Amino acid sequence: MLCPVCKAESLQSVKLNDGPQAHCCSHCQGHWITAEDYWQWMQAHGDVLPEKAPSSTAPPPVEDDNTRRAKLCPNCDRLLAKYRLHPELPFRLDHCGHCGGVWLDSQEWDALKDRNLHDEIYQLITPHHQKQLQLENSRRHFEQRYQERFGTDDYAEIRRIKKWLWENPNRQDLLTYLNDEEPYIA
Ligand SMILES: [Zn+2]
Ligand SMILES: [Zn+2]
Repeated sequence: MLCPVCKAESLQSVKLNDGPQAHCCSHCQGHWITAEDYWQWMQAHGDVLPEKAPSSTAPPPVEDDNTRRAKLCPNCDRLLAKYRLHPELPFRLDHCGHCGGVWLDSQEWDALKDRNLHDEIYQLITPHHQKQLQLENSRRHFEQRYQERFGTDDYAEIRRIKKWLWENPNRQDLLTYLNDEEPYIA
C-alpha cells in the first residue's frame, strides 16, 4: 500500500497510541486505518468516551499544501472524501466511501484523542453530524461578526435584551413602542 500523500512511500503496519492497528507512512507520518481495524478496536474499547476539552495547549495540526490536496484511497484507489470533524479542529479527515478506510495526517490522531473524539470518527462523518457542524460553524461565524460590529459589552447587552423580548408575551407591542420615535403622540 502506498502513502496517498507521498505516493512513493509504502505504509508500514503500526499500532496507534491508545488506538487500532494502522498503516503509517514513515515519511509524512500519516496513518491509514481500515474500517475493520477500527471497529475491531472499538469493540475492545467499549463505550464512546464523552468529549472533553483538550489537555494539550499546543495548537491542533493544520493542513499544508500536501495534505490539503485530494487523495486517492491506498486500498481501492477511489477518491477520498474530506470531512471537518469539529469547529475547533482546522484539519479535515479523508474517508473512502467505498472500502470505509480513513486517512489521518500527521498528529491528527493525537488531536482527536486529546478531545476524546478518536473513538467516534465514524459518527462525526455522518450527514447528521456534518449538518450540526455546519450550523455550529455558522453560529460561531456570526457571533464573531456581531461582536466585532457591536463591541463585546454592547453585544452582551443586546443579547440580554433580545432574550427578554423574545420571551415576553407583549413582544410585538414592545417592538412597536421601540420603533416609534414619538410613541406619546397619537
Ligand atoms: Zn507519506
Ligand atoms: Zn477505499
